[in-house]
Amino acid sequence: MKIKARLSIIFGILLPALFLSCATTGPGGEKDLILISTEQEKQLGREFDQQIRAESEIYQNEEWNNYFNQIGQSIVAVSDRKDLDYTFTIIKSKDVNAFAVPGGYVYIYTGLLDVIENEAQLAAVTSHEISHVVARHSVKRLQQVLGISLLYQIVMGEASSQALETAIAVGLSAALSGYSREYEREADEYGVFYVEKAGYNPEGAIGLFNEMQEAHSGASDDRNFFENIFASHPETQERINNVKEQLSQYSQEVRNRDKNRDRYQQMKALLPQ
Ligand SMILES: [Zn+2]
Repeated sequence: MKIKARLSIIFGILLPALFLSCATTGPGGEKDLILISTEQEKQLGREFDQQIRAESEIYQNEEWNNYFNQIGQSIVAVSDRKDLDYTFTIIKSKDVNAFAVPGGYVYIYTGLLDVIENEAQLAAVTSHEISHVVARHSVKRLQQVLGISLLYQIVMGEASSQALETAIAVGLSAALSGYSREYEREADEYGVFYVEKAGYNPEGAIGLFNEMQEAHSGASDDRNFFENIFASHPETQERINNVKEQLSQYSQEVRNRDKNRDRYQQMKALLPQ
């Protein structure tokens, strides 16, 4: 996705006093140093969301919007981050993908909804994306790329405007171009944890990997695939193994929960062909 940063606005958002805060970024009260405040993150998110809406075809189906939103909100309710108003948006596109931007904006493509076979799998991918927001992965990536010294200069008003604009543009594109292996592992882990807490069958996470691997066999282009997880097979296999190990710690009762295949298939029949 091409997102052109509206530099002047972003510039204005980051300039107001950045303050140091240690925020909860995961289950069990895991903390991290976060320099971009929740208010600033919300402002950034609104900017990104506007651009995404301007550049994409939003899928306007009330039944689907309610369904996706209801699944998303049920996971947010058991997550470790509720200081945002999460929105769940469906984009009409053949891309087999889903993503989240700062501020609690979660998107899924109809191409991925087509590949998914039951509600547990949809809940799994939604929970994975919510986990990126909870863990503030985009925000942390932005901080990494900009660097502490530049952030400090921004706070103190010492950075040259040229240096700032360049740094922020680089930071934003990096924040949106995919996450590290460590962040993906974290989102997989938190994702399974939250989706189970929300009452879904956490096995949906494995089903999701399987469906996508199947859909991918024969495809020639890696780029449209879910966060590029199939760009490198060993990494995908490692992710599947990690999730399987995590799932083995749940009781048979949890792992036998209904995956709501029928309900999902009814919804799927409504999707545009
Ligand atoms: Zn991810």
